[in-house]
Amino acid sequence: MNSQNSNLAGVPHTHPAGVCQIRAENIHKRFGNLEVLKGVSLTVNKGEVVVIMGPSGSGKTTFIRCLNFLEEPDQGQVMVCNLDVACGLRVASRERSSKIRQLRVKAAMVFQSFNLYPHMTALGNVIEGPIQVLGMRRDEAVKSGEQLLAKVGLADKRDEHPSRLSGGQKQRVAIARALAMNPEVVLFDEPTSALDPELHEEVLQTMRQLAGDGMTMIVVTHEVKFAHEVADRVVFMADGVVVEEGLPQEILVNPQHPRTRSFLRLVD
Ligand code: ADP
Repeated sequence: MNSQNSNLAGVPHTHPAGVCQIRAENIHKRFGNLEVLKGVSLTVNKGEVVVIMGPSGSGKTTFIRCLNFLEEPDQGQVMVCNLDVACGLRVASRERSSKIRQLRVKAAMVFQSFNLYPHMTALGNVIEGPIQVLGMRRDEAVKSGEQLLAKVGLADKRDEHPSRLSGGQKQRVAIARALAMNPEVVLFDEPTSALDPELHEEVLQTMRQLAGDGMTMIVVTHEVKFAHEVADRVVFMADGVVVEEGLPQEILVNPQHPRTRSFLRLVD
């Protein structure tokens, strides 16, 4: 969180403000004839929490998937930390693929549907990336994986398989797995929307903690209360463009655009 901006929680950030962590410029994406992103730009500074809201189908998920190249943008530029990747190039170079691999480590993703490996335990899920991708020694990965499971309140579930965990627990394992890669930014794609309402809070609480620790976060969510409390900035998207963005108070309490107003009437 960024103390230059005010969120309701008013938790001081632990990172210097103003250092650009992620920048997307003029991102375009189409699926066949459907133009899903029509030139979306976003800059997120270190320690900032940015919430992206908007009606279903407006391109929010596609946009954050473009940020770590789970979707390849047709046009634009993505920069994460000092890694700059131009988009829309038809020719794949080895250098570009290597940059994208590095960028995915820096920008970890938490998915709506958890995407845990069903055949691995909670700990197995958390240590897989550090061992396979970062080349960490198994004993080190286990030690840090256990700490991360404790951090998300699941130390006692280390040996359970996902099928024996609740949705909220699965999502918290997924958050621990994302953190195990020691990312610079975590991208959350509707992290609570697959959960029963009573399980939202445990996941949101873990995310609040992470924001309080100073993690840079981009969160696609309809959780208005969370956005009020935790976001430094709210971005409202509709029809593949950013309609308006600003402080939570501005966008959530006094939105200027009719699309934002009608959306907030529906989700509130
Ligand atoms: P949001 O997250 O705002 O609900 P999405 O980014 O998921 O929006 O989807 C935007 C539009 O793109 C929707 O019409 C969706 O059906 C379409 N879309 C998303 N992914 C694909 C895909 N892989 N292939 C074809 N269409 C897609």
